[in-house]
Amino acid sequence: MTIPDVAPARFREFSNPATGESVQFTATPDDAGEDVVRFNWRSMPGGAITEHVHPRQEERFAITAGEAHFTVAGEHRVVGPGETLVVPIGVRHSESNPGSVAIEGVVELRPALRTKEMFEAFGGLGLRGQHDAPRGTEESAPARCHVLVLPPREPSHRAADLDPEPDPSAAGGAGETLRRAALPRPLGQPAYPEIGALRMKIHVLTIGAVRVKHSFLYPHQGPRRQLDLFLPGAFSEPLPIHCWAIEHDGVLRLVDTGETAAARNVPFARMEVTREQELPAAIAAAGLELNDVAEVVLTHAHGDHIDGLVHVHARVLIHDAELEFLASPMARVMRRVLRQPLPPGFAPEPFALDEGPFGEFARSHAISDDGRIVAVDTPGHTPGHISVICVDDAGRHVMLAGDTTDSLEQLHALRADAVAPDPKVHIATMQTILAHCAAHPTIYLPSHDPDSAARFADATTSADTPLPVA
Ligand SMILES: [Zn+2]
Repeated sequence: MTIPDVAPARFREFSNPATGESVQFTATPDDAGEDVVRFNWRSMPGGAITEHVHPRQEERFAITAGEAHFTVAGEHRVVGPGETLVVPIGVRHSESNPGSVAIEGVVELRPALRTKEMFEAFGGLGLRGQHDAPRGTEESAPARCHVLVLPPREPSHRAADLDPEPDPSAAGGAGETLRRAALPRPLGQPAYPEIGALRMKIHVLTIGAVRVKHSFLYPHQGPRRQLDLFLPGAFSEPLPIHCWAIEHDGVLRLVDTGETAAARNVPFARMEVTREQELPAAIAAAGLELNDVAEVVLTHAHGDHIDGLVHVHARVLIHDAELEFLASPMARVMRRVLRQPLPPGFAPEPFALDEGPFGEFARSHAISDDGRIVAVDTPGHTPGHISVICVDDAGRHVMLAGDTTDSLEQLHALRADAVAPDPKVHIATMQTILAHCAAHPTIYLPSHDPDSAARFADATTSADTPLPVA
């Protein structure tokens, strides 16, 4: 009796027209008894893999034929037969085949992470005779997550790395990700003559403060997690209530609108907002005109983020899942019990996160036409919570994070707050944010973090200070 050889079916070769490469997996962690994924790799003449990083994996290329042209952390390397290139975790790299013959080699990624599940998806595709990765899924390019990384202070290098135009014939998830990540060039690049008009300016607005119960910030696990919110307990120092104004491409947008003096306290939060601190004053303090606001994007629908809408006459955008949650019986009851009505005339337009991945976030929706202002999926604090990432003129990701956490410390601690309906969802979002921060220069700015304003100011005014990324 012979053991059936199932490997060919599972590890069918597939090719990706977006990158000119073919991949045939030869080992999964299960087979190898080692936490590695290994595949035979072929890069066709003219093929190229755009610069990217693997935030959690080391990658090894052992070349057996042809000459592979790599850049590793901006340095050019040519690797030929018999040679091996090791790309450490988190180091940006790209590859191309400018020669006339195919490059062949063996690639290993360590640790394997979720690649086994991804192989199963690809196995299914192979059996159906498809050769492109599924569109718009995080799993679309297992070994090469084509996330464009923009180094903060190397404009010429950055410009060279950007594809001039995404290839319209480039099918598959990798091409999709590239299009989402393709960003306008820095100043002085001829392809964007009106870049001056596209310059982005972000303002932090502060609308009073809120004290929250200790049990909100540091909840017990288990049944007491939410019960403690309604029992007597100590409150924090005043935490700021921030919202944000973004000037970009001739459009003034707000991300959230802050609280008003009329807001009632709830058992776990005490508002400290005066009429003089409300949105009109905050926006004037930033040198902006309330009447110029064209659009408001809401991170979520808690009062300290939406009540300021009473001052705004503009289009209001909200994630469709958040709007759906607001209409649920549970949310209605809670608004009544806590005496937290929606602001009068509240009629936001829902949007779907239907535009595929942005960096480490699996789902996104472009807010600005050029894709530099993007809503990303950050559920947890509320089921439909989103964050807004602004790709600033230096290529940094300014992440207006709403209440994804109340501080950077909470993010690093992976600690769900007490109001999150499902702590697991909240923590998974924090892990995604940390992975995104590892892959992109990111400035993480929660609404109630006492350090957000200073972190933002430091990052954007002092070019030689290391970025205070998460
Ligand atoms: Zn909130």
